[in-house]
Amino acid sequence: MLNLKSEFQMTINGESVTTEDLLPVINPATEEVIAYVPNASEALLNDAVKAARAAFPSWSAMEIDERAELLTRFAGAIYANREELANLFTLEMGRPLKGAFEEIDGAYYWLTELSKQRLNREVIEDTEEHFVERYYTPLGVVGAIVPWNFPVLLSMWKIAPALLSGNTVIVKPSPYTPLTSLRIGDIAQSIFPKGVLNVISGGDDLGRWITEHPDVNKVSFTGSTSTGKKVMQSAASSLKRVTLELGGNDAAIVLPDVEPKKVVKQLFWAAFKNTSQICIATKRMYVHKDIYDEFLTELVNYAKTVKIGDGSDPTTEIGPIQNKMQYEKVINLIEDTKHIGAKVVHGGVIKEEPGYFIPVTIVDNPPVDSRVVVEEAFGPVLPVLKYSDINKVIEQVNSSEYGLGGSVWGKDLELAQSIAERIETGTVWINEFGVLSPHIPFGGHKQSGLGIENGIDGLKEYTNSKTILVNKKII
Ligand code: NAD
Repeated sequence: MLNLKSEFQMTINGESVTTEDLLPVINPATEEVIAYVPNASEALLNDAVKAARAAFPSWSAMEIDERAELLTRFAGAIYANREELANLFTLEMGRPLKGAFEEIDGAYYWLTELSKQRLNREVIEDTEEHFVERYYTPLGVVGAIVPWNFPVLLSMWKIAPALLSGNTVIVKPSPYTPLTSLRIGDIAQSIFPKGVLNVISGGDDLGRWITEHPDVNKVSFTGSTSTGKKVMQSAASSLKRVTLELGGNDAAIVLPDVEPKKVVKQLFWAAFKNTSQICIATKRMYVHKDIYDEFLTELVNYAKTVKIGDGSDPTTEIGPIQNKMQYEKVINLIEDTKHIGAKVVHGGVIKEEPGYFIPVTIVDNPPVDSRVVVEEAFGPVLPVLKYSDINKVIEQVNSSEYGLGGSVWGKDLELAQSIAERIETGTVWINEFGVLSPHIPFGGHKQSGLGIENGIDGLKEYTNSKTILVNKKII
C-alpha cells in the first residue's frame, strides 16, 4: 500500500520531481486530506516544456509503428496496475469502485485502440503535369489540461493521439484529482524516452501558464466553457492550436410510444451516473404528456432503490460530489429550485454528515426558463419536463448555448432519426446513452467546444496538414 501522504511526484524529463510547496488532496466521501502533491512553479513548467521540446526531434522521427508499440506497452502497464489505480481513483474522485475500474480499463482500451489508427498520405493529384500529395506532420509540444470528472480516461484521449502522431506531451490533471495521473506518470517513466510524456500537478495558474507558454504548440483542453474561453484567448498570442471539450446541457426527448417501465432504468443512469458529473449526462428530460405521470412515478420508484455512499463500499452505486466547490454550486441550484416553488418529487434534502453527498433530486415540470433547466448542474438534480408539441421541445432544446449531446427515445426509429437530425449538438443517441468509442468522433457544437476527439478526425487535431506539389516536367 502506498504511503498516501508522501508518495506522489511529478514526472519531468523521465524523472520524479517534487516541490517544497505541496497541495492537499481530499477524499470527497470523508473530507479528509489523503495526500499531498507537488505544486509546480512556472520554473518547473519551463523545465517540462524544455524536456518535451528536446525529446521532440527523435520521438517524431521514430517510425509510427514503434511509437504505437510503446503506447501499447503503456496500456499494458496501466492494466497490470489496475487494482491499485482503481482503488486510488475511488479515494480521490469518490466514484464507486466498479466505475473506477471502468475508468482504468477504459484508459487501457482507448490507448490500445487509438494506437492502431494511422493517418495515411493522400495523393490529391497524379496527372501528367503534377503529383500532389498531402502529409500529416506533428505539431511539437502538446499541453493536455484535464478536469476532475474523468481525469484518467480524458487524459488518454489526448495522450494517445498526440504521442502516436509524433508530438511530446505535458499533462496537467485537475488539482482536485491529480493522484492517479501522477502514478500513471511514474509507470510511464520506464516505457517512454525521457521528456516524451511529462505529468505535472498544480493549481489553475499552472493551466494558464501552459496556455500562455510560447513553446507549447497545442493545448487540448477539457473542462468548463468559461475556462475554455480563457484558454482560447491565451492561445491566440502564439496562435496555438486548440481542441476544446467543454460543458453541456444535454436533453433526452422521450416520445409518447415509449413504455416507461422499459426505459426508466437506462434514463435514470443517463442522468445520474458518476453523480451526474458527466459532460454528456442527461441534464433535462422532456417526456410526452401522455406518458408523463407514469414515467415520473417509475423514475422515482427506481431512484428509491439506488444506494448512495462512500465509493469504496462495494454496494455503493452513487458516490459523493467530487469537491466542495461543486457541492456548494449544486446545493445552491437545489435551493433556487425550491425557492421558485418548483416541485421536488425525490431527494432535495441535504444531510449534515461528512462527505460531499447530495441525494438524487428529481424536479417535476419546473418552468422551462428556470435555472435548473437552463444551467449545467453537474450534480444529481434532474428536471423532468412535460411536453405536448415536439416542435416546441426541439426549439427549447436548441435554445441552449450548449450543443454537446442528447438523446431521443421512441419506437418509431424514422421519427426519432428526424428529431435527432434537428438537434443542434455534436452527438445524438437514439434509444441509447453515452456510447463513446475511440473510433467515433466526439465534439461539441456552439459553446460546448471546438474540434474533435477520437476517430481519425481526433488524430488529425494533433497534426499540421502539409502538401507537396511536384511539377513532373523536368525543368
Ligand atoms: P475547469 O474548467 O474548472 O477546469 C478544467 C481544468 O482546467 C483543470 O485542470 C483546471 O486546473 C484547469 N484550469 C483552470 N483555469 C485555467 C486557466 N485559466 N487556463 C488553463 N487551465 C485552467 O473544469 P472542471 O470543473 O474541472 O470540469 C467540469 C467541466 O468540464 C464541466 O463543465 C463539464 O461539462 C466539462 N467537461 C467536458 C467534457 C467534454 O468532453 N466536453 C468532458 C468532461 C467534462
